[in-house]
Amino acid sequence: MIPKETVDEILETSRVEDVVGEYVTLKKRGVNLLGLCPFHNEKTPSFTVSPTKGIYKCFGCGKGGSAVNFLMDHEHYSYPEALKFLANKYNIELEEEELTAEEVQQMNEKESLFIVTQFAAEYFQNQLHQSEEGKAIGLSYFKERGFRQDTIEKFKLGYHPDAWDTFTKTALKKGYNIDFLEKTGLTIVKEDKHFDRFKGRVIFPIQNISGRVIGFGGRTLLADKKIAKYLNSPESDIYHKSKVLYGLNHAKKSIIENDNCFLVEGYTDVISMSQNGVENVVSSSGTSLTVDQIKLIKRYTSNITILFDGDEAGIKAAFRGIDLILTEGLNVKIVSFPESTDPDSFAQSHSNQELIDFLNEAAVDFIRYKTQLLLAAVGDDPIKRAKLIKEIVGSIALIPDPISRSVYLQECSQLMEIDEQSLLSELNKVRRKNISDKAIEVERDHKKEDRGFDPPQVKDFGEKHLNVNDFQEEDLIRTFIKYGSKTIHLPSQSEEEEEKEELTVADFLINEIEADELTFSHPVFSKIYEIYKKSFEEGIQVVENDLVSNKDQQISSLAIEFLLERYSLSLNWEEKHKILTVKEVDILPKKVHKGICSWRLAKVQELIEQNQDLLKDESVDYASIYSVILRLQEAKKALANELGRIILK
Ligand code: ATP
Ligand code: MN
Repeated sequence: MIPKETVDEILETSRVEDVVGEYVTLKKRGVNLLGLCPFHNEKTPSFTVSPTKGIYKCFGCGKGGSAVNFLMDHEHYSYPEALKFLANKYNIELEEEELTAEEVQQMNEKESLFIVTQFAAEYFQNQLHQSEEGKAIGLSYFKERGFRQDTIEKFKLGYHPDAWDTFTKTALKKGYNIDFLEKTGLTIVKEDKHFDRFKGRVIFPIQNISGRVIGFGGRTLLADKKIAKYLNSPESDIYHKSKVLYGLNHAKKSIIENDNCFLVEGYTDVISMSQNGVENVVSSSGTSLTVDQIKLIKRYTSNITILFDGDEAGIKAAFRGIDLILTEGLNVKIVSFPESTDPDSFAQSHSNQELIDFLNEAAVDFIRYKTQLLLAAVGDDPIKRAKLIKEIVGSIALIPDPISRSVYLQECSQLMEIDEQSLLSELNKVRRKNISDKAIEVERDHKKEDRGFDPPQVKDFGEKHLNVNDFQEEDLIRTFIKYGSKTIHLPSQSEEEEEKEELTVADFLINEIEADELTFSHPVFSKIYEIYKKSFEEGIQVVENDLVSNKDQQISSLAIEFLLERYSLSLNWEEKHKILTVKEVDILPKKVHKGICSWRLAKVQELIEQNQDLLKDESVDYASIYSVILRLQEAKKALANELGRIILK
């Protein structure tokens, strides 16, 4: 029991923004703080913390409460555990007796697993620093690896005695229950015999975000190839491998500060980099990178840099990781280390500045990385080249944000020296496939999960969704909805004129579309366009709400998705740097212009193909069709030239 005065002191001292801020990146919004809700999956922040009121509230999923509620809800602490955590955080003394074996048994199961694990972590640390064996074998090993004393303490490294059941015996004597020792994997029970899992290994405790130890990695010190070099704790109620990142508890602050997270292979990489002053580093030790792990990182930054040694297995794993990260809408860069070094050895043999410089210089975006690597293997073989293009476009297609997508597509087109238009049609193909694959998946998930405020991930285009122009059409409609009412200044066509035209994006687009008599081939896009055109003719602006609450469900869901995209984008833009806000304005006229040109080009291409088909029929007037084709080809060339001059970014 914690005395009432102490409880009051804890409650009065605790700052909800401090406590929540350990788990969620919070940005100032007036008197409140705003972030992405950790209790449900959202892209647009609706999780609000009020320091003055001492509470948090999510307007998406409805969760809310005080600092104590947050810990109970998020960390699954019991009430006393939450209080103890806070007391510890704010250095408030708790007069607490040691737990008896009986009390330990009464605790709920999960708490018991935490407690056993905590006991083990302390035991291994004591062994390392105090026992003769630990000092002689474990500590000297860590020192030899170049780990400093403060590093060894920071990461709570330990040593497990080299005997069959010394640890288990000690734990049992102290009153810890064999069931929990077995469930945490510390003890292996065979019939009625007990064996220590980590016998004779140095210990890397694995901590959750708040620093509680939840599992262990143990490295053997024997050179015997038949013994696994690393052993890890098995899954348990407190240790879910796919949801943990090693080092995140230490790294989170630095990840926020640097707005980037380095991802490495294992314990020693994290420790050595951190010791060398690069603290924004984590690893997905024991598993390949998972979506849940990426989501953990996403709470703090949207930039991930994967570091790895360039062996075959590493490259494969990196490729898979890249695609997962892109799908989550994060930016990813890659650093490959020189032959036979890894982040651990590199960090150990270079100064802090050298390490930082190397990381900066060697980091390439995923397209450059994939291209360089694959191009070397492919050479001039056209079939392999085609496969490579598919591979890269496949990755680009995963990026949720259309602007990033088009920037990357352009980069790819330059690097591979391929017409952007061909890349675009490949991209369309992949995205259509992804969307229909995903539709099935989302349909399945939808019933399971309350998706809160998240926009629908899949656009219901209905049946007719197999047109070459769909991507361009979608992009144009997206531009209408997201930016239609924005004013743009278009550089005038002729170079002598200084004057610039000023009009809204919607008006510009309507003028262009009508002048060319372009029509949308997809019914939903066509309906939305008609709404804009009607308003234009009546001289009024389209009210977004008319779209959002449109009777036609396809129209409203598209509108909601595109508008929410704008909201989250502009939030980021404003927040990150003022410069980026400028960038949006800069990019818009070009984007609009480009959208129209691309669409025209696709239409012209379609006409060329139709006319070429006509030529197959021998009875047609060959000469006149041929002259049509020639004119179309000229138009195509002119458009391609024009497109080539528009450079986004
Ligand atoms: P060495 O001293 O031989 O270089 P190491 O302990 O550095 O050994 P490596 O084989 O170099 O280990 O492994 C690279 C990284 O991957 C290290 O950070 C290591 O901690 C981590 N690692 C290796 N195997 C595992 C595993 N099974 N589970 C978790 N992490 C692992
Ligand atoms: Mn190594």
